[in-house]
Amino acid sequence: MAKIDAVMGWKKLDLGCVIRQPGSSRTFKTGDWRSQRPVVDRDKCIKCGLCWVYCPDLAMVPAEEGYYKVNLDYCKGCGICAKECPKDAITMVLEED
Ligand code: SF4
Ligand code: SF4
Repeated sequence: MAKIDAVMGWKKLDLGCVIRQPGSSRTFKTGDWRSQRPVVDRDKCIKCGLCWVYCPDLAMVPAEEGYYKVNLDYCKGCGICAKECPKDAITMVLEED
């Protein structure tokens, strides 16, 4: 029978749900578990900014000439921006495409 050499006590576990450094959320790039990503068709885009307003992660950001682009470091691929775009200018594509 295998012998257990050591049992870690709860006092040695890292604290969970603790922000040790205020204002550090930008360092946590949370888009790596995305399965789909939004692609903006600028030929259809009217620069209304609704994708930016509705994105729950502020991952749709202003770009040059009044357009909007996706910050894939934080985009979760939820598709809300594509659903809310009034011109169907955003298409969700599989990550591997
Ligand atoms: S919601 Fe659609 S039309 Fe409006 S800025 Fe975003 S991509 Fe362009
Ligand atoms: S797919 Fe979701 S998280 Fe990504 S840009 Fe659109 S609304 Fe934001």
